[in-house]
Amino acid sequence: MPTPLPAPYFVAASAKAAALVELDPALLQQPDFIALFTGNAVPHDAKPLSAVYSGHQFGVWAGQLGDGRAILLGEVATAAGPMELQLKGAGLTPYSRMGDGRAVLRSSIREFLCSEAMAALGIPTTRALMITGSDQGVMRETVETSAVATRMAPSFVRFGSFEHWFYRDKPDELRILADYVINAFYPQLMQETNPYKALLAEVTRRTARMIAHWQAVGFMHGVMNTDNMSILGLTLDYGPFGFMEAFDSQHICNHTDQQGRYSYANQPQIGHWNCFALGQALLPLIGDVEDAQEALGVYEPEFASKIDELLHAKLGLQQFKDEDRALFEAMFALMHDNHVDFTQFFRKLGQLQVAQPERDAPVRDLFIDRAAFDAWAASYRARLLQEQRSDSERRLAMDLVNPKYVLRNYLAQVAIEKAQNRDFTEVARLLEVLEHPFDEQVEHEAYAALPPDWASHLEVSCSS
Ligand code: AMP
Ligand code: MG
Repeated sequence: MPTPLPAPYFVAASAKAAALVELDPALLQQPDFIALFTGNAVPHDAKPLSAVYSGHQFGVWAGQLGDGRAILLGEVATAAGPMELQLKGAGLTPYSRMGDGRAVLRSSIREFLCSEAMAALGIPTTRALMITGSDQGVMRETVETSAVATRMAPSFVRFGSFEHWFYRDKPDELRILADYVINAFYPQLMQETNPYKALLAEVTRRTARMIAHWQAVGFMHGVMNTDNMSILGLTLDYGPFGFMEAFDSQHICNHTDQQGRYSYANQPQIGHWNCFALGQALLPLIGDVEDAQEALGVYEPEFASKIDELLHAKLGLQQFKDEDRALFEAMFALMHDNHVDFTQFFRKLGQLQVAQPERDAPVRDLFIDRAAFDAWAASYRARLLQEQRSDSERRLAMDLVNPKYVLRNYLAQVAIEKAQNRDFTEVARLLEVLEHPFDEQVEHEAYAALPPDWASHLEVSCSS
């Protein structure tokens, strides 16, 4: 059962998430709903539960980790299938270990905004319905106030949920879990000769596609431990994540990750590594090592074809040519050398006019080495000449895939600091901006700006 918090108040809600469970978002501001989604009142027919998991943290087996500080309230039947509602930070559970079962307002706002921003970017993710707060203090590096985030997903089962039963040598529980997941979420796999092998292959495929999306938008998860990997291929557990600003392929967004295991450049191979950990856990069900390896073999081709598709779209290219890979590689090398802002670069590239290099200033001015940009732009132009679209058609298409607005750390920080003073307007405004990341939103131009100097001191680290 959730543990009530004193005098909970409304912080934020996502109307788009509410629509998925057919809830009127206005209701979420009412005391009954605030109580419900703080865990202060539990529906009379609900049987809340917490689900234990284990996992590999930073590549090392870490044993039992917890339950995500999450209490599942139940599921809502929707047109698109059942949706689970869970409270994050609603108090101690049997798996809380040394933790207090609470979440702070700061990290709850980050998770809330990023979940909804990712959904708007078209990236598979868990959703965030709302946040409530309470002035009850929780001890972290300093005393902070508590919050409860209500998350939604068809399932929160993780790779680590399977590893838990595998490492405990509990094959019956492992099978029950796998059968549940297949029945509920991958029913088409029941037809396969080896449904467990097919499950591994399908999860591997989805994971590869999800990470291709991350790379294409410059998203860094920060803690790609196996317990943060969703069995549905959803982006899960938003902690020290970041969106790439000045491009550095080795960028590490998690202050705790000193080795850079989860750097931007490493994410694709870590995704594959995590699928191996899942494969290991499913091996007793799959039966044969070669079958497991074959299932895992889908990762690289799936990732390669998805990232290829996404990069072509980002550059406004409709045809696929052999030489395109070299064009992409040269582009990333140039972005890296010039520390170009990831989001602004792709957005401004859309304004390029094939026959008018003298009008390149918007994108060209992002580079310190203008001559190097001109050289790359010449090869891009040559490539564009082989395409059929006009400049304006290409720009329209590029603007639909290259966001103007992403959740930059400093934007979240501004909203958090206001919220800590009980002003929640900036959280709502930022959500509104991020819900339409591809629109120009002239009135919100400032939200597309480069980070201010003070933001270079911002650091984010693990669980809080
Ligand atoms: P994370 O690094 O955020 O993925 O944390 C790993 C796991 O540790 C979480 O999923 C929780 O189960 C547990 N945990 C972290 N913080 C707390 C807390 N304050 N109270 C209870 N459990 C926690
Ligand atoms: Mg986690």
